[in-house]
Amino acid sequence: MTYLVKGQTGDWELVIGLEVHAQITSNSKLFSGSPVQFGSETNANVSFVDAAMPGMLPVINAHCIEQAVRTGLGINAQINLTSYFDRKNYFYADLPQGYQISQYLDPIVGKGEMIIDLPSGSRTIGITRLHIEQDAGKSMHEHSPKYSYIDLNRAGVALMEIVSEPDMRTPEEAAAYFKKLRTILLYLGTCDGDLEKGNMRADVNVSVRKVGDTKLGTRCEIKNLNSVRFMTKAIEFEARRQVEILESGGSIDQETRLFDTEKGETRTMRSKEDAHDYRYFPDPDLLPFDSIRKTLPELPDQKKQRYIDTLGLSPYDAGVISSEKEIADYYEAVAKGHDAKIASNWLTAELFGRLNKQGLEITESPVSAEALGELVGLIENNTINGKIAKEVLDKMFETGKPAKQIVDEEGLTQVTDLGAIEKAIDEVIAANQDKVAEYKSGKEKMFGFFVGQVMKSTGGKANPAILNDILKKKLS
Ligand code: ADP
Ligand code: MG
Repeated sequence: MTYLVKGQTGDWELVIGLEVHAQITSNSKLFSGSPVQFGSETNANVSFVDAAMPGMLPVINAHCIEQAVRTGLGINAQINLTSYFDRKNYFYADLPQGYQISQYLDPIVGKGEMIIDLPSGSRTIGITRLHIEQDAGKSMHEHSPKYSYIDLNRAGVALMEIVSEPDMRTPEEAAAYFKKLRTILLYLGTCDGDLEKGNMRADVNVSVRKVGDTKLGTRCEIKNLNSVRFMTKAIEFEARRQVEILESGGSIDQETRLFDTEKGETRTMRSKEDAHDYRYFPDPDLLPFDSIRKTLPELPDQKKQRYIDTLGLSPYDAGVISSEKEIADYYEAVAKGHDAKIASNWLTAELFGRLNKQGLEITESPVSAEALGELVGLIENNTINGKIAKEVLDKMFETGKPAKQIVDEEGLTQVTDLGAIEKAIDEVIAANQDKVAEYKSGKEKMFGFFVGQVMKSTGGKANPAILNDILKKKLS
């Protein structure tokens, strides 16, 4: 069903977008423990935080955040895992802080949508965002001709602002949207939808354009409508008003208007502010909240990346280790206090090999992570070399004894004494003159033979780096 405003120059189409403020159902305010109670005595529900006494700090009410997230899920919207509060600066008597704590760039809920049902069929209305903000107090002008009084009971009460796309084309669609949203909030229990108490109210943005135009016209925003009937009337009035201005050659000023329920008209309240008028900036008193994200563990991809970036593991090893939580846990226990790469090699090459041979899972390993860590420590500080370490690991598998005990009992400590290694080399060279000649004539592969012989004569305990070093010099 189309709704067109007939003009002298042709038909005009309406474009409508709603900003709905819904009070979050919660026993206490958004940033203080003050109770949220309708009908309390004036200023009975006001803490120092709500009154913005110097030095008072806001503390997020987690329940309110949860309510907003529930609502976001209810309108099929994207939940933003990181979000923060901004200060929206303006000066008004009922706003004691001098700014409203709201959300600007990173609202808790992003794009969503809602289906509305009309006699003519269903339509999907886009939702731009949902953000959380605090309500202001209330100015009372009826008590004195000279003074205004302020009731801060509502100051700091949690609100959700749910902003629609300019997707509605008729007053009925706007009404249907508002009603459907109210129903969803009531189902969710995130807002009581009480229109009379002002717990749910809409700012209605209206513009008109010639049928067939694709560009949006300049909009006016009608503030604080809390009845579907008034909303419909206000839109109809506003549309006719704008068409008349445009048809008589005028232009629409973007402004904020009020609906006079008695006269059935909208009238100027103030010219419309732009976002930059509010000097938005992140509220330094409140940290970004990503509490739900914080409860997530480090996931496999993040683990893998961290192993690569900060531990220097190869992408392959990082992938193998992070692929199962039990393996990652085991690895991290091995690497604790030890060289990350050596730990990774001994896990993936040596331990896995032995486990596979016996058909054991990592959780069934006879060598605990701490025990393997100790072995890595002995390799790291040169107590034993890699070759001996393999034998030690075999014995750890068989006997369950700790590495250090096996090394001590069997006298496997590495030989790093230069003199002892040199003596062993000299003996091997003396006994193998023919091989030395071969090597010197260009058969470089022979080098491995000498290393093997020296290792054999030292019981495999020679420090390989020192051995290589001296052997090279002796053979040159
Ligand atoms: P502000 O807070 O400055 O009003 P928002 O972007 O939060 O700005 O809200 C703008 C609202 O006005 C949205 O609901 C949007 O769909 C609607 N809107 C934007 N442009 C138009 C337009 N040309 N005609 C009608 N509604 C519009
Ligand atoms: Mg607005």
